[in-house]
Amino acid sequence: MPEAAKAREILDGVVQVYLPLPMRPSIVNVYLVRAGDRWTLIDTGMNTEDSVAAFRGALDEIGIDPHAIGRLVATHHHVDHFGTSGPYRELAHAEVYTHPLEAQAAVAIGQIPAENTAYLARHGVPVVPPDRRLPPPSRFFGTWYAPAEPDHLIADEDELPLGDGRSLQVVWTPGHTPGHCCLLLRPDGVLFVGDHLLPKITPHVGLWPGGPENPLGDFLGSHEKVQKLDAKLVCPAHGAVYEDHRRRARQLIDFHRVRKLAMLELIRRRPLTAYEVALDAFAIAADNRFQVFMATVETLAHLELLRREGRALRHEQDGVVRYQGR
Ligand SMILES: [Zn+2]
Repeated sequence: MPEAAKAREILDGVVQVYLPLPMRPSIVNVYLVRAGDRWTLIDTGMNTEDSVAAFRGALDEIGIDPHAIGRLVATHHHVDHFGTSGPYRELAHAEVYTHPLEAQAAVAIGQIPAENTAYLARHGVPVVPPDRRLPPPSRFFGTWYAPAEPDHLIADEDELPLGDGRSLQVVWTPGHTPGHCCLLLRPDGVLFVGDHLLPKITPHVGLWPGGPENPLGDFLGSHEKVQKLDAKLVCPAHGAVYEDHRRRARQLIDFHRVRKLAMLELIRRRPLTAYEVALDAFAIAADNRFQVFMATVETLAHLELLRREGRALRHEQDGVVRYQGR
């Protein structure tokens, strides 16, 4: 049996719904915002039986008819945020709003054929036999990921009128994903931050093949940007609602500065591949292919920023890329 629905009205007409995830973090928060008798849903959770049952239970608990949800706005395309957008679009007859880069990424996830062994090997990750490689995401996620095609594409500074004097301002915050958006509810001053500004953990920021060239630079820039907003309350996708987005943004900027400097120390001693730096910088198991992959691309994001700052050099020899600190 799925757990009892958990929903909480955090202020008038803003409801936080906790949905279960089959992985860590084990909960994702989605938010319902009322305007008149219509509701807007921000993010959807993962398309598992437990999550859908919890969401339906929450709607019953609060007394919301699914058809009263007219709008579904995504912070980003990841499976725990956008995974049920297809089914909920049908259920509610809602219109889906997403940033174009997230819409593209949602389609691309279904088309990744297999582990990108060449990319990993170029950055020092040992090649393993096919049966130990990562499965394509479409096989790994299966039915958990049922993304909707968007009805509307959103862009930085767009103002989405919800009715009854409320609106959502789109704040494009690339970094965790290229088209990640925070949403500022006006006039209430409630900032829905997706994964950008989590209270306890840092989101993954990685240099993915074919993605933006300086994702950590983008992420840090997005933290400078959100500090300029006026918000009273921060609503994250994982963890509790909190105040003071500026303080948390500064902490996250600082966290990555320290991590970057630790990596710089390592590559000052001798040239290293991103994989070698990752083994030292992250507490990962070398035989856990998923951890190795995530840590290597996150390390690359830091090394590439160091290179752009003029503090590291990159050279490639015999098809392997190494970084050296200056
Ligand atoms: Zn995410």
